[in-house]
Amino acid sequence: MNRAEMFSRVKSREKFWDFIVIGGGATGVGCAIDAASRGFDVLLLEQSDFGKGTSSRSTKLAHGGVRYLAQGNLSLVRSALRERGVLLKNAPHLVKIQPFIVPVYNLQDKIFYGSGLKIYNLLSGKYGFGKSKILSAAETVENLPNINQKNLRGGILYFDGQFDDARLLINLAQTAAAQGATLLNYAGVFEISKNSAGKIDGVSFQDAESGAVFEAKAKVVINASGAFCDSIRKMSAAKSEKIISLSQGIHLVFDKKFLPGENALMIPKTADGRVLFAIPWHDKTLIGTTDTPIEKVELEPKPLESEIEFVLETVKNYLTNAPRRADITSVFAGIRPLVKNSKTKNTAKLVRDHTIEIDDANMLTIAGGKWTTYRAMAEDAVNQAIKLAGLSAADCRTENLKIHGAAENSEQSGDLAIYGSDAENIRKLISKNSDLAKKLHENFPYVIAEIIWTIRNEMPQTIEDVLARRTRALFLDARAAIESAPKIAEIMAGELGKDSDWIAVQIREFNDLARNYIVDKS
Ligand SMILES: Cc1cc2nc3c(=O)[nH]c(=O)nc-3n(C[C@H](O)[C@H](O)[C@H](O)COP(=O)(O)OP(=O)(O)OC[C@H]3O[C@@H](n4cnc5c(N)ncnc54)[C@H](O)[C@@H]3O)c2cc1C
Repeated sequence: MNRAEMFSRVKSREKFWDFIVIGGGATGVGCAIDAASRGFDVLLLEQSDFGKGTSSRSTKLAHGGVRYLAQGNLSLVRSALRERGVLLKNAPHLVKIQPFIVPVYNLQDKIFYGSGLKIYNLLSGKYGFGKSKILSAAETVENLPNINQKNLRGGILYFDGQFDDARLLINLAQTAAAQGATLLNYAGVFEISKNSAGKIDGVSFQDAESGAVFEAKAKVVINASGAFCDSIRKMSAAKSEKIISLSQGIHLVFDKKFLPGENALMIPKTADGRVLFAIPWHDKTLIGTTDTPIEKVELEPKPLESEIEFVLETVKNYLTNAPRRADITSVFAGIRPLVKNSKTKNTAKLVRDHTIEIDDANMLTIAGGKWTTYRAMAEDAVNQAIKLAGLSAADCRTENLKIHGAAENSEQSGDLAIYGSDAENIRKLISKNSDLAKKLHENFPYVIAEIIWTIRNEMPQTIEDVLARRTRALFLDARAAIESAPKIAEIMAGELGKDSDWIAVQIREFNDLARNYIVDKS
């Protein structure tokens, strides 16, 4: 993917695009892949970087959602479990089967969660990831060495999917590009245009780099802007009512020592009825999440002090050597765009299903859902959009479409496994210049060659893009990410032809942003 090349396609375009997709998160990029792979001309516009919104800030689980099972939403669980299986098949380099253990402290819970997780596995049918198993207290401790053993009666072992959300998103963008879609990051839509019949026929967007404004025309426009979708709907119909509620969730990241071994911990019911996970992730421990109703949508949501305290307090009950505030290496927040239900104010009770709305001007909005179900959501949206725009019917092809980088046995590439088939290209860079095997920072596995690879092929425009979403440095260890920023700036400036002023501004802006990922030690 090359931004200048993508831009030149947009500038030279005289015909209408078939589709314009607003939003470069999982939903929008999923729609771009779906429509492009059916043979349509697609333009996707993202106001910031691909995945800057919620899609890089999730718990990173490809799952049916045990909590939705408890809510009795079997059809949502079944379809998500199916999508979990499709994702593992099409992106085996990024999705892995993750064992989880639910520790139980009384017999009633052992029976309840034991049978619930059996149903969970049954619902997955041929897409099952492995049978659940009831563990004795001794087996639970063997598998979760740091678990609080006081009154422990055993545990339930079950399997779900785990992935790197931002890396998957970038690989999805590359998949869309390979199918012929044109994708632009840093291209924010600020206005929509309508034809004489009052139907939407295009958008205006601004290139964040130059400030220049452009118009693009299309037969159908999909609004896949996640938590921002109501503001885009207002551009089309000023008086439209909100269709989503916003709920913030945070994650804390700690050293691996707090969750030694390969197993994840699942706490099915916290003090206020939520689910909390502790998951091994890139040699760290990821713990979250919360579910806090919020009013205002922001691209860079801030974790609340009460959320940080809640996670620390909850996990204290389950881990013998519990992490403390000073142990947090990074904290990040994300916003769930939940389909609104006027009867409930408690966002934990709102369903994670998606909704498609078509307004009077024929703008199609797709919102809600889950990362896991992005493909099915996109299929649904594109099917509807084809009908809406009277485009020639074409069958969805994504169920069997491999995602960029897909490779079996990618774990053989060690720290480069996450790049799947691209790992070979990174190794080639190193074989030409062994200096590129040097590490970016002692706290990270990243080598200089992969930074160069990502700058040349994955369209990052800022230091943040590289440190937050091409690598996951900022999400893993914010202080070490700040220390890495000058090196990244220097490499990017060389690759992209930027000057020392650019470097200075980039480092300052990154440092300001990265401070939000650091928690004061006291
Ligand atoms: C804390 C948390 C944990 C989660 N955990 C999981 C999980 O483990 N598994 C799971 O399956 N799901 C999970 N989810 C849900 C999942 O992350 C979301 O459903 C999904 O990422 C939403 O993707 P999206 O593309 O709809 O939104 P986003 O990723 O937010 O993408 C929307 C994009 O639109 C862009 N945009 C907005 N306005 C404009 C404009 N005017 N012009 C151009 N672009 C614009 C934004 O910049 C943004 O990048 C979690 C969500 C949260 C918040």
